Amino acid sequence: MPRHAAAHVDLDAVAHNVAVLKDLVAPAELCVVVKADGYGHGAEDVAHTAVAAGADRLAVALVEEGQELRDVGVEAPVLVLSQPPADAMADAFAAGLTPTVDTAEGIDAAAAASSGSGWAVHLKVDTGMHRVGCDPADAVVLATRAIEAGLRLEGTFTHLAVADEPERPETSCQLERFAAVLARLADVGVDPGLRHAANSAGALLHPDARMDLVRVGIATYGVPPAPGLRLPVELRPAMVVSAEVSHVGRADAGEGVSYGLRHRFDRPAELAVVPLGYADGVPRRLGELGAEVLIGGVRRPIRGVVTMDQLVVEVTGGPPVSVGDEAVLLGRQGDDEVTADEWAELLGTISYEIVCGFGPRLPRRHLRRVSHGADAAPAALGDPIGPR
Ligand SMILES: *Cc1c(COP(=O)(O)O)cnc(C)c1O
Repeated sequence: MPRHAAAHVDLDAVAHNVAVLKDLVAPAELCVVVKADGYGHGAEDVAHTAVAAGADRLAVALVEEGQELRDVGVEAPVLVLSQPPADAMADAFAAGLTPTVDTAEGIDAAAAASSGSGWAVHLKVDTGMHRVGCDPADAVVLATRAIEAGLRLEGTFTHLAVADEPERPETSCQLERFAAVLARLADVGVDPGLRHAANSAGALLHPDARMDLVRVGIATYGVPPAPGLRLPVELRPAMVVSAEVSHVGRADAGEGVSYGLRHRFDRPAELAVVPLGYADGVPRRLGELGAEVLIGGVRRPIRGVVTMDQLVVEVTGGPPVSVGDEAVLLGRQGDDEVTADEWAELLGTISYEIVCGFGPRLPRRHLRRVSHGADAAPAALGDPIGPR
């Protein structure tokens, strides 16, 4: 018996976003980032859709995530975005993944796992974010070590810390430091392979960051990297989170709602219960922060705290609401739309955290009008595909 609540993922929107991004960044290669289960959208279906729509490569954060893609028949090159632990290198090699390396130990582990067979690796250089990546001063030594150990330097890259804030100066500073690293590699005759720096914001907003390849995650899913940006392409949000109203009720003036009875009604209120809660990815504080849900094409406020499995919406006045009516938490209904950015701004976070929050308890329904491979039956829009 399926839940009457789901995250609907429009794979046509993903395909559209991939196609417009590829066009925008050409001749750079497009690497679509599907870590964290495709930012909550389903890595398997997003991966197949992205490759069919023109993605040259895919990227993940973990070796396990790459193995899962191989297990479902994804054949495209898969870059692991950070250096895997030494004891995961053999699995990465066996799965035909492309690891990032940024330390001598990592290079030696990759060489040992692949026994001099020319395994492709990408060298990551830290140009200012100070998370991972080698010191720019060590890049030549590490690149040389990798090549001498029988690895193939397929790429050299860095990661931008503030690309989503286009007015800040640090992005060009990072790109200059990266250019200096590439120049030093050239001086000693080392081919850096594919040079890359751009995440979604870099690819969209900094043309000089596109280089040979861009690594786009959030834009693939139709979510802007930050609110209020002027984007050069039109992205389509892929995720709609909705549920059927499971109960309608009322409360008298002076009564409260949900745990803590923190919200008190100052007039008699009509209420609709939506069977989605924080265990599904709807943050508990959202109601108190003034978030709204679309029911009957009208914005309605969440009242009281979101509970583990359910939340309560006030529907006083306006069109009547019945059990079974569709409530849209994220996405479009009628002429209005609630975006992940809207929640993110209320919560003081970023849209990435919102979409990644929709976890395994919430059924995921993939909507697709186009087939993505010989063995994939085209599904009608609205048909659920796969177990979730
Ligand atoms: C996650 C990640 C990306 C993708 O970032 P978006 O902002 O989602 O496009 C790119 N590169 C690296 C190294 C990452 O970790």
